[in-house]
Amino acid sequence: MKSFTLTIDVEPDAKRKSWNTSNPISFYGVHKGVEKIQSLANRFDAPVTYFIQPVVLYNQECVDFFQNLDGRFELASHLHGEYIGPNAKYKGPDFSGCNPGDRQSNYTPDIEQKKLDSLTKLFVQKFGHAPKSFRAGRFGSGKHTLSFLKDLGYSHDSSVIPRSKQFKSIKSPEPYLSNGIIEVPITIDSRRRWLRPTPSFSSIKEIEEIMGMGYSNTCCMLHNVEVLPNINPYCHSQDDCDGLMKRLEAVLSSAFKNDYLPVSISEVIV
Ligand SMILES: [Zn+2]
Repeated sequence: MKSFTLTIDVEPDAKRKSWNTSNPISFYGVHKGVEKIQSLANRFDAPVTYFIQPVVLYNQECVDFFQNLDGRFELASHLHGEYIGPNAKYKGPDFSGCNPGDRQSNYTPDIEQKKLDSLTKLFVQKFGHAPKSFRAGRFGSGKHTLSFLKDLGYSHDSSVIPRSKQFKSIKSPEPYLSNGIIEVPITIDSRRRWLRPTPSFSSIKEIEEIMGMGYSNTCCMLHNVEVLPNINPYCHSQDDCDGLMKRLEAVLSSAFKNDYLPVSISEVIV
């Protein structure tokens, strides 16, 4: 059976023109954005995988929100290493106006491992269970990342963008096993079209074409903050957000039409 995964990178609200955090920091994209995405997914009985980054995990109201969310979902971890030690660039507790540009592949292996360890411990402390799936912030995973994840008890990673500069050797979006971890790449076809409802990515027609290609798994990604205007660099008006939601609905109905079984990331098999 082919599987379909809807994945959301969960960030604090950002600026209109960059991924810098809003000033003052706010979390409408969690409280209102996630609610919007989850209620659409619930109509299709599709589980959503939320990759949650440290600033959102530090915020108890956001943690409470996820603990009270209705529907099917998996909570997973997402590293933006400037927010978590050792050597955190931003130490908090106020994360207003921060610039999250780090890629973990640029850290020394020791620092990367320790940041992953801190993130995993923070997640366990907040949710009372260990995360099974991971995505690197800025898709910045490196050559040591999977073995660190394996040692920390993870089973799945979803940090690979096929055919991109940093993952040149990966040409296909099909899941594969590497270092004991199942890698679930973002779905990007041979024409470099993303399964992504964000403005300037794929149209409804292109989404339907990608979903009709017969991949054994398809992985759609977006950020929670994209579904509300002015708290992300992509959607600046209600029309932008309405268009995004229409394309996201097209992704879900295409998955249904093409006999994809909706699953969370940790349920993907190879
Ligand atoms: Zn992120």
